[in-house]
Amino acid sequence: MIDLAASTTSHYRICPLCEACCGLEVQVESGRVVRIKGAEGDVLSHGYICPKGYALKDLHEDPDRLRQPLVRRNGTLQPATWDEAFEEIERRLVPLVAQHGKDALALSLGNPNVHKMGLLLYTARLIRAVGSRNIFSASTLDQMPKQLSSGLMFGHWLSVPVPDIEHCDHLLVLGANPMASNGSLWTVPDFRGKAKALRARGGRMVVIDPRRTETAEVADAHHFIRPGADVFLLAAMVHTLFEEKLVQPGRVSDWLKGIDQVHAAVALFSPAAVAQRCGIEAETIRALARELALAGRGCVYGRIGTCTQTFGTLSSWLIDVLNVLTGNLDSPGGAMFAKAAAFASNTMGKPGVGKGVATGRHRSRVSGAPEVFGELPATLMAEEILTPGAGQVKALITVASNPVLSCPGGERLDQAIAGLDFMVSVDIYLNETTRHADVILPGTSPLEDSHYDVAFPALSYRNHARFSPAVLPPSTGALPEWQILLKLVAIAQGLGAQADVLALDDQILAADVTRLAGEHAPAVLVALAGRQGPERQLDLALRSGPYGDQFGRKPEGLNLAKVAAAPGGIDLGALQPRIPEVLRTPSGKIELAPAILVADLERAWAALDEPAPAFSLIGRRDVRSNNSWMHNLPVLAKGPERCTLLMNPDDAAALGLAAGQLATVTLKPGRQVQAPVALSDALMPGVISLPHGWGHDMAGAKLNVAAERPGVNLNAVLDETLRDPLSGNAVLSGVVVVVAA
Ligand code: SF4
Repeated sequence: MIDLAASTTSHYRICPLCEACCGLEVQVESGRVVRIKGAEGDVLSHGYICPKGYALKDLHEDPDRLRQPLVRRNGTLQPATWDEAFEEIERRLVPLVAQHGKDALALSLGNPNVHKMGLLLYTARLIRAVGSRNIFSASTLDQMPKQLSSGLMFGHWLSVPVPDIEHCDHLLVLGANPMASNGSLWTVPDFRGKAKALRARGGRMVVIDPRRTETAEVADAHHFIRPGADVFLLAAMVHTLFEEKLVQPGRVSDWLKGIDQVHAAVALFSPAAVAQRCGIEAETIRALARELALAGRGCVYGRIGTCTQTFGTLSSWLIDVLNVLTGNLDSPGGAMFAKAAAFASNTMGKPGVGKGVATGRHRSRVSGAPEVFGELPATLMAEEILTPGAGQVKALITVASNPVLSCPGGERLDQAIAGLDFMVSVDIYLNETTRHADVILPGTSPLEDSHYDVAFPALSYRNHARFSPAVLPPSTGALPEWQILLKLVAIAQGLGAQADVLALDDQILAADVTRLAGEHAPAVLVALAGRQGPERQLDLALRSGPYGDQFGRKPEGLNLAKVAAAPGGIDLGALQPRIPEVLRTPSGKIELAPAILVADLERAWAALDEPAPAFSLIGRRDVRSNNSWMHNLPVLAKGPERCTLLMNPDDAAALGLAAGQLATVTLKPGRQVQAPVALSDALMPGVISLPHGWGHDMAGAKLNVAAERPGVNLNAVLDETLRDPLSGNAVLSGVVVVVAA
């Protein structure tokens, strides 16, 4: 749309900064962004925008954002041409892998991968081409427990039910702060407005959290819980449902397997037995179970706090056990499965049955940790680099990843990465991790990319399809990330740095289409002609997806042209029941009692009597922060200091600490950090909170705004040996520490 009077053009862009995926209106004048606001016509977010959304302008204009490849020469990173950069990678990486094997090359994938279509679709191709077992990502610092429990129960890693908040009358939230995040593993822009509507129609929201979060502040009730005790609370709520004969699975009853095993498994976990461990009265636990069971349309939603603990998979599982037993799974107003228009694996293959999921198809070399969803725990990266022997990691490719700040044991990992034989980073910043790279390949600004959310429509509160074209033309000399990644694919496959990536893309796509369409492949390829790269994959996924035009067989169906012609997107309606069609378990049932989860309850029972420590540490989410690089954007960096140690005033007084004074947080000798104290009675006594992603004072990084107020690196303190053994997820919440003035 062009406004001739003002010479200003307005462009629709899906925000790539967090999982809420709001639609934005970006106004451009003379090639410069002059204004960003929420897009009123967006079918998902209806004009909502949070403070981070405005930061797209800062990100685009950030002088620290890399715009040209860097190659290390004589010890320093120097500007280079794309050809020089790829030739350097071929020169050094190919012989290294030939000598030491594929596992000697590791990949580290960061969270922004999932927010850029080109990155997400083509890192998958890179992983296949590299063929290494050493694949690490932010998933094992975040949500892998939920993916594992969902996979075991429903048969697919990406079949994660989300609250149908538009029809829900009772929302129980654990370890999540959607007022700050607008959903996580749940795309729900303007959570505030939706929570308000829920309460306005007589609904109720209850929050369980060691901190009275922003979400708790707007809830009807909040209960403190000792960090890491969610598994006990949830098991006791399940126990109560059986004890008080409140189990009513409703419409999914015919597809349930294992209900008696669950009953037996929670027999010991009575509210009385767990009350002290949780810090919640037994009668309150019973009441929480009762009100959920009797609410009619209710839902339990748990997020990062329930995942990043030693019983993360158990907690994630029990949340959905509660949803099933109260009749709220796959029921309007309960926990439902979105049906994505493209790329959703749980819409592919035979409906209602599948192979299910398996873990441990290989194990990590040093600790023997099982692979989960193709990945090893990110916390094992340092030992895989530092421990000599066959299969030792000697080279690393990072893609939008900063594990030195985001992974426990960050200081040790920093030293390990510094000792690698070779490192490549696909990244737009010279950050605390990429400062060690030998070659840095910068992608484009999000405003220079077209975008479709590949992952999040499968987690959305409402079904939809949205596409946003590039707002600005690529700057001179820029290379799209998908082409950068394809060049790395070519090098890994032995095709060389001079390979024609567009021809390679054609070949890979043709192979994909042949697998998908068989004898119809030639016709499908003709229909896709005229597009390339991620947009061509998107057109294929939309057309062959559940709402697609099936290449002409359903002319009213979707294709990319139709979706692109609807700025603001196409609404595909409220979430609908999907069981049994969504199931991909071998039994064709909801596996309510997967054997490895039932067995792991014994580990929880053994930990029931662990005494309360003087202090345990939790993280927190701030509406102006998400990833470490956002600390370099002026619009988000301004305002009060955010990297503070929140603690209860009574705890602080007992230690002689006042607001603003430095406190020392110690995990063990040599693992400590100092941070300024902020007092808040929103913290449960005995709990302290420090956000992660800070510590921007390392030499060699180029994040000048962030360096002005660097904060401290929480992950330099956290223990990389603490994991949920089932999912491999790091323990970031409820870590026992000593606090001193
Ligand atoms: S909540 Fe904010 S950061 Fe997240 S998508 Fe919306 S505008 Fe962007």
